[in-house]
Amino acid sequence: MAARPAPYLDDLNPEQRAAVLAPDGPVLMLAGAGTGKTKALTARIVHLLTTGKARPNEILAVTFTNKAAREMKDRVGRMLGQVEGMPWMGTFHSISVKILRRHAELVGLKSNFTILDTDDQIRLLKQLIVAENIDEKRWPARLLAGLIDSWKNRAWTPAKVPSSEASAYNNRGTELYQMYQDRLRALNATDFGDLLLHVVTIFQTHPDVLAQYQRWFRYILVDEYQDTNVAQYLWLRLLAQAHRNICCVGDDDQSIYGWRGAEVGNILRFEKDFPGAHVVRLEQNYRSTPHILAAASAVIAANKGRLGKTLWTEREAGEKVRLIGHWDGEEEARWIGDELEALQRGTRAMDPHSLDDMAILVRASHQMRAFEDRFLTIGLPYRVIGGPRFYERLEIRDAMAYFRLAVSPADDLAFERVVNTPKRGLGDTAQQNIQRRARAAGVSLLGGARELLAQGGIGGKGANQLRTFVTSCDAWHYFVANRGNELEIKRYADQLFVLREERSRLLRELELLDENDEARESVEREIVICGARIGRCERDIAILDGNHVLLAEQILEESGYTAMWQADKTPEAPGRLENLKELVKALEQFENLQGFLEHVSLIMENESEEAAEKVSIMTLHAAKGLEFPVVFLPGWEDGLFPSQRSMDESGLKGVEEERRLAYVGITRAEALCTISFAANRRVYGQWQSALPSRFIDELPEAHVEVLTPPGLYGGGYGAAGMQAGFGGGSGIEQRAASADAYNSPGWKRMTERAPTRPMAQPREARNSVIDLDAISSFTLDDRVFHAKFGYGTVVGIEGDKLDVAFDKAGVKKLVARFVLPAHQ
Ligand code: ATP
Ligand code: MG
Repeated sequence: MAARPAPYLDDLNPEQRAAVLAPDGPVLMLAGAGTGKTKALTARIVHLLTTGKARPNEILAVTFTNKAAREMKDRVGRMLGQVEGMPWMGTFHSISVKILRRHAELVGLKSNFTILDTDDQIRLLKQLIVAENIDEKRWPARLLAGLIDSWKNRAWTPAKVPSSEASAYNNRGTELYQMYQDRLRALNATDFGDLLLHVVTIFQTHPDVLAQYQRWFRYILVDEYQDTNVAQYLWLRLLAQAHRNICCVGDDDQSIYGWRGAEVGNILRFEKDFPGAHVVRLEQNYRSTPHILAAASAVIAANKGRLGKTLWTEREAGEKVRLIGHWDGEEEARWIGDELEALQRGTRAMDPHSLDDMAILVRASHQMRAFEDRFLTIGLPYRVIGGPRFYERLEIRDAMAYFRLAVSPADDLAFERVVNTPKRGLGDTAQQNIQRRARAAGVSLLGGARELLAQGGIGGKGANQLRTFVTSCDAWHYFVANRGNELEIKRYADQLFVLREERSRLLRELELLDENDEARESVEREIVICGARIGRCERDIAILDGNHVLLAEQILEESGYTAMWQADKTPEAPGRLENLKELVKALEQFENLQGFLEHVSLIMENESEEAAEKVSIMTLHAAKGLEFPVVFLPGWEDGLFPSQRSMDESGLKGVEEERRLAYVGITRAEALCTISFAANRRVYGQWQSALPSRFIDELPEAHVEVLTPPGLYGGGYGAAGMQAGFGGGSGIEQRAASADAYNSPGWKRMTERAPTRPMAQPREARNSVIDLDAISSFTLDDRVFHAKFGYGTVVGIEGDKLDVAFDKAGVKKLVARFVLPAHQ
């Protein structure tokens, strides 16, 4: 029987094979998405091993995520069969930890050093900032943490930070950085960034150690090379400079970590760094259908200064990329949920698919909430990859603890979580005193705190803040407990009446006063105060009347929790605030706070249930290198994708990185790719209309099918919201400046020509809180109340939308279920 010496070469094309068989020395594979770079890289590892060129421990393979490393290990394992030992495969960080443990003493650590997480890191920096008498409000610890990280990404030790970069913290940035490093050393600890930097330092200062690793790792292979930062680049170059057996693969169009210090220049410079490199270009894409590929290529073509690549595929045309606009984000989630189920069953155009084959890729992690809620409601198993699920996030757990405390004042776990978040000057001792008092009296911690205050067991600033906290908790619980209580509502209504009378009186008084009268100022001030009290009273009535969303907002505001994140100047803070808004938005779907809390505890419980197949939800960043037969790309709206931050940046750099992210997103899909946007997103109960993403303009008409959302068949809403600026012709500036984009000729052309068919018709409304289809029970001239716009009168009704003439905010169109009947 003829021997088959290299089965791993059989399913490779000639270019891939050339890369696998390339002789020793530098190799670069610079090619577009889905061309089999990772596949060829893996085959090269197998090749080195099976031909005896290298023993397993002589190969080092670096991947971008642990997940990618695991997949590569599996593939190599499968291709090799029984071979002793496996190569070193992992991320830069996981490999660095291994190296550092062996040589820790060279950077003043012991081999059992601990690795701090971000919270620990920030706590440590905060201590330093306070000890150095630096104004922490102006120069928060998180900001310093971000700075230090960015310095470490550039391989700058404190001595190497250029003075031009160190003006923050009153020119003491580098000094603090040095103190922080000393402190870490004293604690026998490192942070994440240190792992690489220490290894680079050891390599640079101990040629003997470097030489040892150069002998060990005779072959180095790196995936996703376009996203390496300076520290990683140095790390690799040091290891590879002697033998030059380095094989890097990547795609400049998929460089998406510039914001974290990645230098796409590293890959573009490879041939200079390693002269004589064997360069392989791959052009055949094996992953996606021609339609998907054409859409991705057209979008990325709008970036300037690319190398530019041709991609082709032999796959059958298949389905066009689907584009659909929705009224709002909830509808988008509902539609995608229905689609996933339809695809699972199999549709006219497609065979049944496992949920494992489907993924939803979002731009911002707060987008996940709507999907998680929806999937829980319909019992669709899902997993979130590369981050905590929405309700597991720090800020969400904090906020939920506040809500729990409002509902059940005896919830001690919730009390402990938030009593000193934000800081209320209650240190460990004060908290222990509360615990002791509560145990002695056999009451809850909130009760214990109340007793401690009554008996003067706590003093100073902490006492005042604790008192405010206890009073607030009592007030929040009062609103929960007295929801719908007519007597209480009446009490407030009477008060409101008195306040209004008072304001009328003051207004009359003001009219009588002469323009220059000195008394005017004080009367005006009283009117403002009275107005504010009226506003508060109206809000309280609305809350008593059942508006729990308003209550939730009040809790987050009064507790200082929102303010805490607003004052936070770190890069994560805006994301956390977004998540909080998203949380409040989620509340709108529920009857009351209790119902919502139950829903969330169900989500948490659901986690332990192991379903065989699950749909994946992840960010676009986490999806790099992965592929799925079916991909949904929701939220393509300007401000969300591309992100507001990237649009605000001067120059095109930010938006271009977003566009590469769009390219990464589309190219994850093998057979079916669906892009969607919502015309409205609700933020704090207020509708904000959004423009379809500028990237939608860049999609090529011929490869896109525009779907009609099922909602439109009901003769319902917002044709304007559905008409996206699409198909080119409407310049970006123009679009940003004018809402006329909704009537863009491109979109009209598309919608007229494209055969529109609804994919999955929504099933019978399921019996769930989220599904409650609000059928307007209002009639013309009804008085209503809205969380944001206050009181108003219904002047028009159209399906489940109302036109309301608000007393102060003018006429607005609103969904009926967000409007309450008013007792006015
Ligand atoms: P990305 O840029 O997204 O990381 P990639 O270039 O690394 O993509 P791979 O993930 O290696 O691409 O390959 C994409 C898909 O194409 C995989 O499913 C892979 O198995 C398949 N593939 C790659 N090369 C071939 C080939 N020569 N014949 C058949 N299928 C192939
Ligand atoms: Mg890859």
